[in-house]
Amino acid sequence: MPEHVHTETDVVIVGAGLAGLVAAAELADAGRRVTIVDQEPETSLGGQAFWSLGGIFLVNSAEQRRLGVRDSYDLALQDWMGSAGFDRNEDTWPRRWAEAYVGWASGEKRAWLRAKGIRFFPIVGWAERGGYLATGHGNSVPRFHVTWGTGPGVLEPFVRRVRDAEHKGFVSFCFRHRVDELTLTGGTVDGVRGVILDASDVARGEASSRRIVGEFMIKAQAVIVTSGGIGANHELVRRNWPSSLGTPPKHMLSGVPEHVDGRMLAISEAAGAHVINADRMWHYVEGVRNWNPIWSRHGIRILPGPSSLWLDAFGERLPPPLFPGFDTLGTLAHLTRTGYDHSWFILTQRIIAREFALSGSEQNPDLTNRSWRQVLGRARGGHAPAPVEAFKQHGVDFIVERKLHDLVGRMNALVGEPLLDTQKVARVVIARDREIENDFTKDAQIMAIRNARRYIGDRLIRTAKPHRILDPDAGPLIAVRLSVVTKDVGRAGDRSLRPRTRGGRRAGLRPLRGRRGGRIRRRRHARLSRARGHVPRWMPLLGPCCRARGGGRRRVSSMVNDNCYHHRGTEGTENCIPLKRPARAGIKISRSSDCFLKLRLPRSAPMGRCERRTHIPRPSSQCRKVAQCNDLGVPLW
Ligand SMILES: Cc1cc2nc3c(=O)[nH]c(=O)nc-3n(C[C@H](O)[C@H](O)[C@H](O)COP(=O)(O)OP(=O)(O)OC[C@H]3O[C@@H](n4cnc5c(N)ncnc54)[C@H](O)[C@@H]3O)c2cc1C
Repeated sequence: MPEHVHTETDVVIVGAGLAGLVAAAELADAGRRVTIVDQEPETSLGGQAFWSLGGIFLVNSAEQRRLGVRDSYDLALQDWMGSAGFDRNEDTWPRRWAEAYVGWASGEKRAWLRAKGIRFFPIVGWAERGGYLATGHGNSVPRFHVTWGTGPGVLEPFVRRVRDAEHKGFVSFCFRHRVDELTLTGGTVDGVRGVILDASDVARGEASSRRIVGEFMIKAQAVIVTSGGIGANHELVRRNWPSSLGTPPKHMLSGVPEHVDGRMLAISEAAGAHVINADRMWHYVEGVRNWNPIWSRHGIRILPGPSSLWLDAFGERLPPPLFPGFDTLGTLAHLTRTGYDHSWFILTQRIIAREFALSGSEQNPDLTNRSWRQVLGRARGGHAPAPVEAFKQHGVDFIVERKLHDLVGRMNALVGEPLLDTQKVARVVIARDREIENDFTKDAQIMAIRNARRYIGDRLIRTAKPHRILDPDAGPLIAVRLSVVTKDVGRAGDRSLRPRTRGGRRAGLRPLRGRRGGRIRRRRHARLSRARGHVPRWMPLLGPCCRARGGGRRRVSSMVNDNCYHHRGTEGTENCIPLKRPARAGIKISRSSDCFLKLRLPRSAPMGRCERRTHIPRPSSQCRKVAQCNDLGVPLW
């Protein structure tokens, strides 16, 4: 006899991944009753985020500055726009979202995450380096902040908050509940309907059964869909494949568990939601088959340093700037034109030891377990980190040989076709090696390697000293067959994914009412408007270094970005200097770099609690104009 469950709640959230958990935690804090439904068993709580590396986009962070990286809102936004290439009518909201997000990433984001207990590995990674002109695709500087504890470390504080709220009765979970429909009343979404799947004891990430044992319906004042992307649904990926990326590969690996099936998109559309940018997707080109798979077609992405030689299926070297880690989609578009699904890295043991990392929490046990001892043992004695060595030994895509001739022979054998000509591959490798000896090289990849090594983070752990690939001391030689690995490709809905009525009008959302009848959407709006970069009228402008005690010249660093938007400082802490009248306090402000004001305090500077706030009117977009709009009363430069 099938079970029929019918309940009511304030908010129902579809998906117990990171997005769902964050939404639930915030709602529970606001006193709402939340029900989270997920098709997977409880063991998979947290969804993809558990498997992720926890790489987080931050701009002008303390970690970057410690490594000598100068970043800013303007630079990050320029990079974002260069990569996004917004050119459609429906890009209005994505563009505004991008502006707000970059503003947040260069402002409160780091402090917000740190307040939740999230910490970062001190070396910032440099993903998607671009290699085009200033306004083209890519990150001009390293911005990939890996969470200490990787994906599980990101999840931890949110799981804790939601579990606490569960104990207090604000949150309830319905695992093995699959939503098949968003219910409508008078054009307004007012709940979800679906089926209950049988209990499952599969391990996290493994495919669970889809046997139906019952039905359910939940009515709510608001429905939030946080169902992840479409990466495990290759049919859907192919159906939406953009023409700019050529023909979709016949064979792809899955970078995400099977539950990332994209079903909720069609379900939301059926209820009138407006899904946009269905064809804007992101897949990695450096995928290898997992020798120890958890889900079907399980692929792992290599996070490569810049030195491996990249060849297409026929042994042609990829053109600049399609070097490892430079332009994923550009490389994908190039490779799909070859008619083959795979490409090759050729490298040395020295390169794999220094440059190969694998994406995913389980592939980085040192970072996931927060073990400095393991981190320090990463690349010792010319060996790659243990998970990379395991792939080299057991992975079907890895070939290790001493001689190039033997290597190419085995590459052909692995593909099952003699696509590679040994002489041709040798010519490519020798030509590249010849340029290594040349200080004024014209080889763009070697220039890029040298440029990468100017960044201390790369020099320390991510970019091998330039050497000849055929140098026997750097060997043995390694070839890696690379496939396309699908990722967390999702789509942005328009502003609120609010369904339309049949007439095309935007359907109403029932206002979410608090216990005393107050509308919580108003509060949310206040928070959103801040996130979108609207500058509040009153901003604290106090720096962390003002905590320094004792004599001498104390330095106060205060961040003022282009919007005068964020501050680094501990408002309300002891020993901060009220900066309302810095000139009177004898504070000299000098420009050390864009958007970075150094305040030098004389010994006599008054100390006190930083309760005062300094009014900063909105400046124009250029940081150097902060001087004109800053009412600190002192010339800044
Ligand atoms: C190996 C790996 C490495 C990654 N590395 C990074 C990184 O370094 N940095 C980064 O920013 N991102 C990274 N990501 C991506 C990031 O983890 C995801 O984008 C993010 O976790 C997605 O969270 P989500 O809550 O939106 O979706 P998900 O985690 O996919 O959660 C969605 C949930 O919805 C449920 N669901 C779906 N449909 C239904 C339905 N009809 N009924 C009920 N439940 C449903 C699913 O079961 C799932 O639990 C990585 C991902 C992977 C897999």
